[in-house]
Amino acid sequence: MRFVSTSGSAVPASLKSALFEGLAPDGRLYVPERIEPWEPKEIEALPSMTLSEIGVRVLAPYTADDLAASALGAIVRGALDFPMPLVEIEPGVFALELFHGPTLAFKDVGARVMARLIGALHDGGDPITILVATSGDTGGAVGHAFHGIPNTRVAVLYPNARVSPTQEAQLTMFNGERGGNVRAYAMDGTFDDCQRVVKSAFADTALRARVRLSSANSINVGRLLPQMIYYFHAVARLLEASRPHDRFATPSGNFGNLAAGLMAKRSGLPIGSFVAATNVNDVVPAYLRTGRFEARASIATIANAMDCGNPSNFDRMLWLYDARVDAMRRDISGSAHHDDDVRAAIRRVYEERGYLLDPHSAIAYLGLVATRTGQEHAGVFLATAHPAKFAEVVEPIVGHAIEKPAALAAALAAAGPVVRLEATVDALRARLLTGD
Ligand SMILES: *Cc1c(COP(=O)(O)O)cnc(C)c1O
Repeated sequence: MRFVSTSGSAVPASLKSALFEGLAPDGRLYVPERIEPWEPKEIEALPSMTLSEIGVRVLAPYTADDLAASALGAIVRGALDFPMPLVEIEPGVFALELFHGPTLAFKDVGARVMARLIGALHDGGDPITILVATSGDTGGAVGHAFHGIPNTRVAVLYPNARVSPTQEAQLTMFNGERGGNVRAYAMDGTFDDCQRVVKSAFADTALRARVRLSSANSINVGRLLPQMIYYFHAVARLLEASRPHDRFATPSGNFGNLAAGLMAKRSGLPIGSFVAATNVNDVVPAYLRTGRFEARASIATIANAMDCGNPSNFDRMLWLYDARVDAMRRDISGSAHHDDDVRAAIRRVYEERGYLLDPHSAIAYLGLVATRTGQEHAGVFLATAHPAKFAEVVEPIVGHAIEKPAALAAALAAAGPVVRLEATVDALRARLLTGD
């Protein structure tokens, strides 16, 4: 399978080029040349498949030209070594818990598969250096995903003193490691400064002649494709339990997660429709309402991993639906939620059901219940982060401390040295060239 640009105009690329380059040469996003349909028989057989079997089957058509089946199996089993339980939190309302990976958020799924794909497809020349700017969460997931992967190196730039203590621990925990391949730099500046420095580094041809740079943000197909896996897995578990289902609600910011769900449906996965659930950064729900897409500056909310006013994966949604809003409306409804409603939902679900939601998962929950029509069909919302990861929001709402899962306690205990760096490309270049 080859990969093309959403514009349809760029020359088709191999999986390896799409992975290593990130963006298509025309600046648009890569998508597979075609979406490979599943046979109805295969869908019927889903309930008997394990998570790794599903993972291999989902990715096989997209990787078969580049990777042997055995290599793909090893990648999937290595990357997805944590459970993704489907939990019925109230009658007919299921949480698909995607937060049991090492950094306790669903980004582990895409990042871990992508890291292993890049490691496996590397040609053995100079190591590839993944350069990523982060406001907190992505950097941790990417650092953990690439840690110990041969032929790869990661440099994460985050704004000094502007990430939570938990995030800082997850970011710095490999800093002290001798010969380690993951480094996080605390830039003297804001997230925008980090992004500016990353952009200048990618534009620096002299630097790029000496260091093979690549990115790992959510527009990379290497993160998109594996995110289809858990939609198949959730439907498998519902079919296994003979629970008729219709709708999936996805908490969305940059819309990679929802785009993957739409691709899963397009491959034949029986999902009735989707809810694009957002915080007040509601450009996609507004588009579904008015037919006009108007990017805006992002607004800060308590679900900050979804604070995005110009979602890049909207491009992939347009590609999937030929830019036809009426067709998109048949498959997706929009639902946007204020912080106060999110807090109220966290409190109510905890008090009535004893289930703790993080702010992002709470938005998906709200999106699902707001659009539920009947009780006969089950609905699923994607729970994208562990509540302990957002303890500063959740604890005041429920009125007590919440228990830290082992991975979080381990990161806090392993926090490494903070490495400060001036927010300039010169300072970064020096680090990248010495590899330190
Ligand atoms: C990144 C993130 C999201 C948004 O996912 P997109 O694919 O960007 O729409 C939702 N929840 C959490 C916890 C995240 O980290």
